Amino acid sequence: MSNPTIVSGKEVANKVKEEIALAVKQLKKNGGKIPHLAAILVGNDGASQTYVNAKVKACEKVGFESTLVQLDANITEQELLIEVEKLNNNNAIDGYIVQLPLPKHIDEQKVTEAIDPKKDVDGFHPVSLGKMLLDLPSFLPATPYGITEMLKHYNIPTEGKHCVVIGRSHIVGSPMSVLMARNTYPGNCTVTITHSRTQNLKAITLQADILIVAIGKPEFVTADMVKEGATVIDVGIHRVEDNSKKSGFSLLGDVKFDEVAPKCAFISPVPGGVGPMTIASLLKNTLLAVQLK
Ligand code: NAP
Repeated sequence: MSNPTIVSGKEVANKVKEEIALAVKQLKKNGGKIPHLAAILVGNDGASQTYVNAKVKACEKVGFESTLVQLDANITEQELLIEVEKLNNNNAIDGYIVQLPLPKHIDEQKVTEAIDPKKDVDGFHPVSLGKMLLDLPSFLPATPYGITEMLKHYNIPTEGKHCVVIGRSHIVGSPMSVLMARNTYPGNCTVTITHSRTQNLKAITLQADILIVAIGKPEFVTADMVKEGATVIDVGIHRVEDNSKKSGFSLLGDVKFDEVAPKCAFISPVPGGVGPMTIASLLKNTLLAVQLK
């Protein structure tokens, strides 16, 4: 293989956003409720601010209403839980996210569990994850959901394929493995989930028809780890110093794109791959929150 199909999350996300914008227009026309997404941002972490700003901007683009709740890094856990409760009780807000990571003194799990499952558009609440396991309609975690939409858009065959997921985080790797094993399309894969205690990782990744990488290490996956003709989806995103760039940094994924791409049938780039789809899925979940009301 030398000419892989580039799985452009950016392109798929634009299509999803167009569809959502149309649905919002229709809602407006029929006097329905305009979806309203809120985001809680704690502290001044640069990456988190960038992510939240991108989410707010995406809301504006599709015609949603949005609210940004910015809180000081020193806020106590109790104070944050009060803010969460306020959003739970605010009928104007259809869905909201608490941008992670939170400062170390706050228990993320406790905050996640305080979110009203009906407004859990990030899909991290135990109720959402449980429903996903049971194939019940629910908010799917935005990043894995976005990846399934990318696979669908490019008609990438999944049935009977061996899907290897690198990483078992609660927000990416674990739910991804569940979605790829579901009895539907995309899905019906034989799934192997790998993590830091996995032995002979390369021997396993070499068997992957579909390799989904969420390890959080820049350019970890190299060409010698990938089977000829595989589909590779790169979830990782890393800012690395790059003086040749005006911004002073460039973005890298978890996959060494230049050397892996020629071996692939399909590969997603960074940037322009999974990232834009995560935001698009958040918008889809917010629209779903309105529809489920
Ligand atoms: P994470 O919570 O740090 O999880 C990393 C996973 O990789 C863990 O399960 C870890 O295993 C595993 N791992 C570490 N070293 C390994 C090794 N040598 N071999 C095999 N597995 C290994 O990360 P995450 O939140 O899932 O995110 C992963 C990456 O995706 C990050 O770069 C993050 O920035 C990016 N991300 C991007 C988006 C997006 O929208 N594009 C969204 C979310 C995350 P253990 O469980 O054993 O520690």
